[in-house]
Amino acid sequence: MTWHQPLCQACWYRDRPHDEPNPRPLTDRRVETCCKCGEETVSGIYATYNPHAVPYPTDVAPSNQNGET
Ligand SMILES: [Zn+2]
Repeated sequence: MTWHQPLCQACWYRDRPHDEPNPRPLTDRRVETCCKCGEETVSGIYATYNPHAVPYPTDVAPSNQNGET
């Protein structure tokens, strides 16, 4: 499972109230399940979470992460 987990805007600000998210461009978003609350989100926000420590982990990395080295 990936540590790169989708997050809805509400959960981002709950966890990181002092940080601004860095969402994907609108053209590169898809419907994801928020790893913290389980709601569907198109926020385009991702954050590093241990997939075994969140209630709704996503196990597929975003497709354009493949080339990352
Ligand atoms: Zn959420």
